[in-house]
Amino acid sequence: YEHHKQKNPSFRVQETEKKGSRIHVFVRVRPMGKKEKEAGSMCCVRIVNGCEVYLTEFGNENDYLRLKRLRGRHFAFDASFPDSASQLDVYSTTTSELVEAVLQGRNGSVFCYGATGAGKTFTMLGTVENPGVMMLAIKDVFSKIRQRSCDGNHVVHLSYLEVYNETVRDLLSPGRPLVLREDKQGIVAAGLTQYRAYSTDEVMMLLQQGNQNRTTEPTRANETSSRSHAILQVVVQYRVRDAAMNIINRAGKLSLIDLAGSERALCTDQRTVRSIEGANINRSLLALSSCINALVEGKKHIPYRNSKLTQLLKDSLGGICNTVMIANISPSNLSFGETQNTLHWADRAKEIRTKPTDTNGDPVVVPETKTDQAKLVLELEKEN
Ligand code: ADP
Ligand code: MG
Repeated sequence: YEHHKQKNPSFRVQETEKKGSRIHVFVRVRPMGKKEKEAGSMCCVRIVNGCEVYLTEFGNENDYLRLKRLRGRHFAFDASFPDSASQLDVYSTTTSELVEAVLQGRNGSVFCYGATGAGKTFTMLGTVENPGVMMLAIKDVFSKIRQRSCDGNHVVHLSYLEVYNETVRDLLSPGRPLVLREDKQGIVAAGLTQYRAYSTDEVMMLLQQGNQNRTTEPTRANETSSRSHAILQVVVQYRVRDAAMNIINRAGKLSLIDLAGSERALCTDQRTVRSIEGANINRSLLALSSCINALVEGKKHIPYRNSKLTQLLKDSLGGICNTVMIANISPSNLSFGETQNTLHWADRAKEIRTKPTDTNGDPVVVPETKTDQAKLVLELEKEN
């Protein structure tokens, strides 16, 4: 299935709209895995023109010809990466502009969404040999800082945390769960380690170590949980002088989020202990989806308070923020259903308009009695 790789990929974001006016959505197809190959799976995804994604159920060549007529089987994104795309391709197309914005005091966020095994952690964290978006972003932050100042004006802090089972944990200094508090800057995890970083070199080990601290599922020893969301925040503080030569402190924050596996987002009715864990993950992912839906529909009140994840990301969705979504998918027809769900979700996310003038506050919390979210919460309350 070499043919679906592009010879000259051009991952340029299409300039159809004013930058920052909506969420940018990308798709990355990972290479076929060993197990998938052994199971005789076929490639069911093809990327056309560097942005369109075609999906066939059985990887049948003739199907591609009919796809344009099949609803829900082809999608267009800001850019789509074939399995030959490098970490740097993905970083520079999706995230490097956000880093530039962060150095100008704005916030940005990048999400990886997709089923377990689809390549989220590879894309975000990567490996020592093949560092992903998190590392490349930090490297870029330091090199851009070096370019623009030699007076030590910029200070970089990192925090790395996990939301697992509606509990927030510090991945840099594991211990008791953290409590979320609202302060002037928004919602913060009280006591979260703010690691002052001076160079790129020290960071990779730190992040790898942090990733090791992610909650492991008891049923799948040695495997990082597919139910935990990991959030790396990179805060860059600096000083500028205004017209009257007064010193002003500024800060920009980049949030890089490796979301939990999306495959459990819709299975809520198993009545086992593990399903409560699952349901809590669903709660965060469902809440993220509700927020996205509310943002898409232009609603005034966005239900950020429905989960820990959305509380933490309140200033990173909509509002004064550049948001990027990377949907990770497997090329194998064995994952057809999950891939289709992921692509639908990503397609929906494209509709989110961000309002640069928004104050990103949600003063009134409107109870959403009719949503799945509320039903789920009620069910959980009954169970407990
Ligand atoms: P997820 O975090 O979505 O559960 P992973 O990132 O752990 O998935 O990826 C699953 C497996 O596939 C890992 O072994 C990973 O190294 C590999 N993988 C994922 N994406 C790529 C890629 N683009 N190139 C090479 N290997 C990849
Ligand atoms: Mg992962």
